[in-house]
Amino acid sequence: MIQSINPYNQELVYETAEFDVSDVENAVNKADEQYKKWREVSFAERSKLMQAAGRELRANSQEYAKIITQEMGKPIKQAEAEIEKCAKLCDYYAEHASKHLADKIIETDAQKSYVTYEPIGVVLAIMPWNYPFWQVMRFAVPALMAGNVGILKHASNVMKSAASIEKVFKKAGFPDGCFTNLPVNSKMVEGIIRNPKVKAVTLTGSEAAGKSVAAIAGSEIKKSVLELGGSNALIVFADCDLQKTVSTCVEARFQNAGQSCIAGKRLLVESSIAEEFTKAFLDSVKKLKPGDPMSEDTTIGTMARIDLAEELEKQLKTALDQGAEILLGGNRDKAYFEPTVLGNVTEEMEVFTEEIFGPVIGITTFENEQEAVQLSNASPFGLGVTIFTNDLDKAARLIPRFDDGAVFVNELVKSDQRLPFGGTKKSGYGRELSQDGIQEFVNKKTVYIK
Ligand code: NDP
Repeated sequence: MIQSINPYNQELVYETAEFDVSDVENAVNKADEQYKKWREVSFAERSKLMQAAGRELRANSQEYAKIITQEMGKPIKQAEAEIEKCAKLCDYYAEHASKHLADKIIETDAQKSYVTYEPIGVVLAIMPWNYPFWQVMRFAVPALMAGNVGILKHASNVMKSAASIEKVFKKAGFPDGCFTNLPVNSKMVEGIIRNPKVKAVTLTGSEAAGKSVAAIAGSEIKKSVLELGGSNALIVFADCDLQKTVSTCVEARFQNAGQSCIAGKRLLVESSIAEEFTKAFLDSVKKLKPGDPMSEDTTIGTMARIDLAEELEKQLKTALDQGAEILLGGNRDKAYFEPTVLGNVTEEMEVFTEEIFGPVIGITTFENEQEAVQLSNASPFGLGVTIFTNDLDKAARLIPRFDDGAVFVNELVKSDQRLPFGGTKKSGYGRELSQDGIQEFVNKKTVYIK
């Protein structure tokens, strides 16, 4: 059995029997059979079903949000927002997929030449627990709209969310086999990727999981998309709007108890305002309200599992051993980790170079633009960066100098269905969302008619 344990009270939320090899094979065969029919379904029909999926999410948003909160501990308000975001994603691709995948005419010396975008078949998604619905839907909605079918290996601690997402598609009217949840542990993944009927794989998760999955997919010459960790810098220039910057930085770091790949994880502050900024930042972090994640007043939940909180505690200890100092927080109670702010953080410390996947942030100061860019790029990750400044000429000058997949100015890095999402360096490769996302798992077929 695979079990979900509520990280807030350690109660059993859900358990499900694990699929064995033959269950998986049957499910893949069924998905592949369905693919042959699904690829012939019109965009208009797929759109109708996707709109119905959006309606189903909205109609039962409380039920789905509760499952998220119980399985991984995020405050219920944030879980509700996650469900609404998924519904918007359904609306977006229902409306835009046919345009995103319309034939592209290219003038050549042929009578007619163009690119046409065709589905590729069964795509495997390996997904994490931090946004248990959103991460899956971000893959599944464009994949299904493109005419592919999806199979899901979700994180072991959120299998009720996984089963519920399958239910959403069923209730919306998608034929059986379009989207299939496989309750399996990660040891089964290799066999699934190697199944000849599985054509590609996408993974959101840790670097270790990404390396393994990409190596297996590579050895089978199968396409992979990887959304791995991040360590986004929040760069605070002296000419920013201080109060707005503080509240954006608090949200960027502490929403979802800091467990987001695109969270702001390194606070880089221009030294001339470091004292004033730090005081305002600490005052604002102190206002976060811990408590029962099911309560609407709670603004910071528990971490998703006790072992993740223990790992964070070890990273904190290393930071202190390496010379960082605690300005706020620092304590853990089971899966709950106090919002923690560290001072004196330098680029040599592991808290700066590693991903910190929880509610801990270090402050590093810089003297000038050049140093700010150098510090930001010093991370092995490259998901995104935020710069806070009222000087938009300066922002425009700096944007090309960052290595990352995204630069946001005066806003936290966030995913938006209309914009491509993905990283560089150890944050992975490929893009999700927007036209780029739906074109990841298609055969871009060149047609030439003399
Ligand atoms: P993992 O990367 O281990 O889990 C993510 C998904 O990958 C889960 O479905 C997991 O399954 C699966 N998985 C794990 N190892 C393998 C493997 N070798 N082959 C195939 N699939 C695998 O994340 P953790 O839950 O252990 O979290 C650890 C760290 O990962 C975090 O601290 C954070 O740094 C990073 N992370 C990043 C996320 C992001 O959004 N980019 C999201 C979550 C984690 P199973 O649960 O069964 O092990």
